[in-house]
Amino acid sequence: MALAFDEFGRPFIIIKEQEQKTRLRGLDAQRANISSGKAVARILRTSLGPKGMDKMLQSPDGDVTITNDGATILEQMDVDNQIAKLMVELSRSQDYEIGDGTTGVVVMAGALLEQAEKLLERGIHPIRVAEGYEMASRIAVEHLECIANKFEFGVNEFEPLIQTCMTTLSSKIVNRCKRSMAEIAVKAVLAVADLERKDVNLDLIKVEGKVGGKLEDTELIYGIVVDKDMSHPQMPKQIQDANIAILTCPFEPPKPKTKHKVDIDSVEKFQTLRLQEQKYFDDMVQKCKDVGATLVICQWGFDDEANHLLMHRNLPAVRWVGGVELELIAIATGGRIVPRFHELTPEKLGRAGLVREKSFGTTKDRMIYIEHCANSRAVTIFIRGGNKMMIEETKRSIHDALCVARNLICNNSIVYGGGSAEISCSIAVEAAADKHPGYAIRAFADALDSIPMALAENSGLQPIETLSAVKSQQIKENNPWCGIDCNDAGTNDMREQNVFETLIGKQQQILLATQVVKMILKIDDVISPSEY
Ligand code: ADP
Repeated sequence: MALAFDEFGRPFIIIKEQEQKTRLRGLDAQRANISSGKAVARILRTSLGPKGMDKMLQSPDGDVTITNDGATILEQMDVDNQIAKLMVELSRSQDYEIGDGTTGVVVMAGALLEQAEKLLERGIHPIRVAEGYEMASRIAVEHLECIANKFEFGVNEFEPLIQTCMTTLSSKIVNRCKRSMAEIAVKAVLAVADLERKDVNLDLIKVEGKVGGKLEDTELIYGIVVDKDMSHPQMPKQIQDANIAILTCPFEPPKPKTKHKVDIDSVEKFQTLRLQEQKYFDDMVQKCKDVGATLVICQWGFDDEANHLLMHRNLPAVRWVGGVELELIAIATGGRIVPRFHELTPEKLGRAGLVREKSFGTTKDRMIYIEHCANSRAVTIFIRGGNKMMIEETKRSIHDALCVARNLICNNSIVYGGGSAEISCSIAVEAAADKHPGYAIRAFADALDSIPMALAENSGLQPIETLSAVKSQQIKENNPWCGIDCNDAGTNDMREQNVFETLIGKQQQILLATQVVKMILKIDDVISPSEY
């Protein structure tokens, strides 16, 4: 800061750019960053596993979310710190790539940071730690390949797929009916999957929810459910063998724009204009009927008069249907979206065996079901539940289960869960540490142990005792399937408990966590705006 005077002798202060910044250098920077990363990981640690706790988050506008999903917790936490944001990104990348394991990846990164902090305290250079971690992560990822199992499944024997989805769902709120949820998720994925090309397009699965009913009422519909109703209450509620016109153009007479001027100075002129408008719309309805449409689904709205006319001419219609839904309807019914009305032709109509409007409870809530479609490769999972928060959390859990089933169809390798894979990797990395100099590799092995420890802790078990017992059992029996018996099932052989996770998911967790930790360790200068 410097004091200067202008040409009239008035004093003013020059603040140098540099002085507005605060700087942290060297070990201080690493220490501060590590503690921010650890703080985020600590929040998620208690959410890991089947006995993990949920978090309740309130948004600035008062919306409440209750969730167990790592990516969602972090997304809603609104963190300010840059390193904490990196952890949020980490969880999001796992969500994008794999869809599951979003809590585990952050807990793993937190454990790696904790171990790194200890090494830095002992005077080891951060680059050495980063290099050691890199090597150890490669060893762990290769070891996962060695302990991975493959399972074969066909369209008719998808029990292993269901079991894996159940492992994912067991830590969520929907635990109570995880079997039926897992079945729904697997059936939905198989409906849209191309097993030969090992390709699954999850966009074809629509997840829709409606408050009311029980979680058990959740169903899979081979078709599309739209949260809309017929535009007029007297239109038919059920249409068999519907031919559907899917319009993204206005379905009403052209309205005069504000810049147009229409002078109507007599009753006759008004009547003529009205009749003309009516005729215009009547022609549109006739055109739909001529091409053979028995239902119109429209992205735009139409006014009450048009609605009335549609009812009179016996052409049911649904208005204000969203773009994404229209696309799905077009895919499911084998129809084409018509963007200009005059382009409507019989070939562009979609076909569905049954379109029905269903009402729920005593509310006026109604939904349109489009079923028995020409192309059954678009499906809807329709979730019911007691309240909005429950439905939102179920949607997130189903998303995880869908991702897991998709990953297994793309790559059918699995590793066992309950921390067994981590313990086995930890043993392998520790063995490698004996051959390589340096402490970082051993530290990585310790960090891997923190996942089973967190699982044990969250299940009310003694973490250190349980871990050492399971680890020694793994070494003694040479059995990489021993994990933490979180649900007190009486055995810690995860193969017997059918607790699986996908190989690519687990590998991705280790790789992503290592990458972020390496990035954090390499920062030795933090320049940020000072707080005044
Ligand atoms: P994420 O969001 O990372 O998937 P979860 O809260 O779903 O986190 O917890 C997943 C962890 O819980 C995995 O390590 C998995 O192996 C473990 N797990 C899930 N079900 C069981 C179970 N029945 N017994 C033991 N461990 C389990």
